[in-house]
Amino acid sequence: MQHVRLFRGHILNPAAEDRYTLHADGGMVTDEGGIILEVGDYPAVTDRYPSATLIDCSDRLILPGFIDTHTHLPQYRAVALYGQELLEWLNRDILPAEREFTPEAADTLCPLFFRTLLSYGVTTAAVYCSVQKESTHVAFEWAEKTGIRAIIGKVMMDRNAPDFLLENTVESLHASEEVCRKWHGAANGRLLYAFTPRFAPTCSRALMRGVGELASQYGAYIQTHLAENPAELQWVRELFPEARSYTDVYFRAGLLGPKTVLAHAIHVSSDERCLLTETGTCVSHCPTSNLFLRSGLMPLRELLDMGLHIGLGSDVGGGPTLSPFEIMRSAIYVHTARRFLPDFGGGDISPTTALYMATLGGAKALGLDDKIGSLACGKEADFIVVNPQRLSPLSTEKAMDISPDTLISRMIFRGDDRIVEQTYVRGVLCHDRSSHGNNER
Ligand SMILES: [Zn+2]
Repeated sequence: MQHVRLFRGHILNPAAEDRYTLHADGGMVTDEGGIILEVGDYPAVTDRYPSATLIDCSDRLILPGFIDTHTHLPQYRAVALYGQELLEWLNRDILPAEREFTPEAADTLCPLFFRTLLSYGVTTAAVYCSVQKESTHVAFEWAEKTGIRAIIGKVMMDRNAPDFLLENTVESLHASEEVCRKWHGAANGRLLYAFTPRFAPTCSRALMRGVGELASQYGAYIQTHLAENPAELQWVRELFPEARSYTDVYFRAGLLGPKTVLAHAIHVSSDERCLLTETGTCVSHCPTSNLFLRSGLMPLRELLDMGLHIGLGSDVGGGPTLSPFEIMRSAIYVHTARRFLPDFGGGDISPTTALYMATLGGAKALGLDDKIGSLACGKEADFIVVNPQRLSPLSTEKAMDISPDTLISRMIFRGDDRIVEQTYVRGVLCHDRSSHGNNER
């Protein structure tokens, strides 16, 4: 049990896509259970909580933890294998790596994966495992131990997969339901389950319909992939001739809705965009992966303007890194590159928008913004402490004299794990750079 604590620092809070709030000398009070009691100016807050234990971060930035809305744990052993597009890369590098995700291998990989996320300031992650049920249990156990907030699912594939990963439809549904029953809502709601059909080409209609029913029965998430690569689109057209579009395949199976996270959505028509908006389906934008696998340039600005709920994702191993800083800046660069396309019609993605999508926007996309995504009274204290001095090229520059717009811009374009000093999830210190560092370098 923790004490009531008062964190003093430069508190930066995303408020909307184009807006943030700042308490230059701020105070945040958390209770014994890691719930935020108050956020405001330090002098006023300390008057109200004179007996709280002071944690002095007064020359540091305090901001909400980052949210990775799409990543693959077993693929962490096969990152940064450049040169192929999606379908060839899956067959040559990724499915064999997922075969190796035995419970024993998971016991080594999971702590490394979750601790690296925490070292980057990621406090929530939506994670795919592989088809192995027991390894998915191991992933949940390590998420529980490391303290990260996570939505995790066992991958499902009942066709068009290699023999060593292929499942029977009924067994796949039963195994996923078993893991869901054990873990959905565990650790006082910090761990959640996502039914995880890999993508339409490897899933039968019966499997997808079963997923829709089970997810609705348990109030669990659904996560899968949508419209990532042109060859994949062609394959989906051949496999589902009755569907009007790739998005319609999922709609017909009953998979769209506010608790469904679809990764990519690069090549989607205006009808599909409307269907995603009308059903409140969440999209995970994975710019580092989209560039790495040469999948395409996602029309982020246009989808945001339609009101879609969009978070950011690392998509490791399609993306080569778990770093949210690299993902935020890539989201901006992708849209900058789109300016040079002849049919470009969107606007800019600003650093403030990228930060919003990595925090409060991601929380909204996952339907968790009543708990996380910003630092406000009643929310759970998922936050990071950042050293802004490390962002400035001039050691003589005083970080607190720099405008918040400049700080955000520098954090996104120059930031990495070295600026994240502490990571807290629900008020619990899960990463302290002075004692752990980062495993990815
Ligand atoms: Zn993916």
